[in-house]
Amino acid sequence: MAIQAPQDPREPAFMAAVGVLPPEQALATSVAFAADRQRSFSLLAEAEAESASAGELLQLVDKTYGLTADYEPTELVSLNNYKLRVSRNDLQLRHAIMDAVLAMDQAARADGVALVFSSAYRSYHYQDGLFTRYAGQHGEAQADRFSARPGHSQHQLGTAIDFGSIDDTFAETAAGKWMAENAWRFGFSLSYPQDMEERTGYIWESWHFRYITVPGARIERDFFGGIQQYFLEFLTEYRRGFTAAPAS
Ligand SMILES: [Zn+2]
Repeated sequence: MAIQAPQDPREPAFMAAVGVLPPEQALATSVAFAADRQRSFSLLAEAEAESASAGELLQLVDKTYGLTADYEPTELVSLNNYKLRVSRNDLQLRHAIMDAVLAMDQAARADGVALVFSSAYRSYHYQDGLFTRYAGQHGEAQADRFSARPGHSQHQLGTAIDFGSIDDTFAETAAGKWMAENAWRFGFSLSYPQDMEERTGYIWESWHFRYITVPGARIERDFFGGIQQYFLEFLTEYRRGFTAAPAS
């Protein structure tokens, strides 16, 4: 009888997790991962380590997965304490991501591009009021396409930022083009890309970026076609693979 080497526990967790993706993406992810398994798993470990040290940066928050009403991110800081361009003076983000924010802002400036920070942390209660207002104006079904129900907004994490005009014109600005091309290098990712509404639940938001760590942004790019929703859905399932009780 052949003696089998003990199986790396990451392998079955990985196999199970790609199963949550659409078949074509699952295949593309598997192929890209398999090209260099060691690198793939170490990138994942690096992203997880940074996330853990910052009190969780890779949590899936979407139409299905929500945050509780009392969830508040650790260590919110005011953007007024930094040399950043803000469109209002009550903006807050998590301290843990400020190095990345400042590095990105500096790099944009060096390229002659001004980033304007327009919206950042939103509490559960603020989001509640916002959704109620939009639903009153547009009806609930329409409001659901562009506004999150309370507890289901990435903004409650304190790691999501809206830039510039917060509308479609942003994509065509110098800042919009710069962000589309460079944000990933600083660990930021476009949460709601074009033509992904069916999966993300939201229309294209060229102005909305979430910090997912630098190795996380690389993983998203290299293995998930640049789609944050796929990466975070995968990761949620992958983590489950290590905590779930073994099948009987
Ligand atoms: Zn946003």
